[in-house]
Amino acid sequence: MATEQPTLATIERAHRAEPDQHTEFLAHEETIARILELRDRKNALILGHNYMAPQVFQLSGVKERGDSLALARRAAEADNPIILFDGVRFMAETAKILNPEKKVLIADLDAGCSLADAYGAEDVIDYKRRFPGLPVVTYINSYAEVKAESDFCCTSGNAVDVVRHAAAAWGTDGVIFLPDTLMGRNIDHELAANGEGISLVYPGKHDENYGRCYVHEKITGDFIRQMRQQFGLSKDDPTTAVLVHLESQPDAVAEADFCGSTSQMSKYLRDNPQLERVYLGTECEMTANLAAEFPHIDFARTCQIFCEHMARITLEKIRHSLEHEVYEVTVEEETRKRALGAIERMLAI
Ligand code: 13P
Ligand code: SF4
Repeated sequence: MATEQPTLATIERAHRAEPDQHTEFLAHEETIARILELRDRKNALILGHNYMAPQVFQLSGVKERGDSLALARRAAEADNPIILFDGVRFMAETAKILNPEKKVLIADLDAGCSLADAYGAEDVIDYKRRFPGLPVVTYINSYAEVKAESDFCCTSGNAVDVVRHAAAAWGTDGVIFLPDTLMGRNIDHELAANGEGISLVYPGKHDENYGRCYVHEKITGDFIRQMRQQFGLSKDDPTTAVLVHLESQPDAVAEADFCGSTSQMSKYLRDNPQLERVYLGTECEMTANLAAEFPHIDFARTCQIFCEHMARITLEKIRHSLEHEVYEVTVEEETRKRALGAIERMLAI
């Protein structure tokens, strides 16, 4: 599926709105031009997660940018021989699971994730032993071995729906959700608020073995209240909004006007043209990317919240990766097939 791809001129234009970003562009213009040349020569598809630094994010076409769900969907329909994934390793691995015959590259194989890195297949097997008969829904922020032991995959964009679907499909009133404690609590609260009668089993609820995103656990209710006060973001003012990611602390979700995946936050801004001032409770590069897309919105900038794993993906490393066709993401075939089942069950919902 060919879509319109960025050129040096469109990337330069996208950086103009923010003077700092434009300076960054000029400092890296040659590297960006080389990446685009390699992309065209090798017919590579460049996928970019919403948390990429603006100069990396702009390398991807509009349809090739997004959250984990959008990028998994885009990877599933790719017909390019090379997919370069600008995001963290579990995301590139998902693209490889969906495209075994393609070369999937990531600029830095050490781009991990505090959630994915903390959970192994043995943890899933242990939960299945302790809670027999319940379907396992695994957050996409996990590696192939973990997905292979799971019944469904989900993302922050569809977690509640997938949990509902898993309970209905398995005919159970319980569902195991791994590995994010905070997201587990947030889903649990939503199901309870709707009186859906699904009992969610997740790390930290029945034990102390929990997983968290080290970035989003910093986003607490107190922090949101502080942001509201500091930037004049009143709950009653329809021209302002506070948006948080589903991986955040439950008391932050309760304090926010909207909670969702990264792409659902962008959609919220598109759907609410009256907004003038916004705080995004998530990784700070996302605020920089949205500031370029929504120049009429004044974004509250705290810039204290960065993901060190996402930050490993730099322009220089991307150029090196495309030039030498390194670093390739691979998945053992038996594991891949089993992990694919969990991803396909999610994509079918
Ligand atoms: P999204 O799927 O919402 O983009 O989230 C991915 C992620 O890693 C958030 O920390
Ligand atoms: Fe993982 Fe958190 Fe970074 Fe997302 S922001 S990749 S969940 S560590």
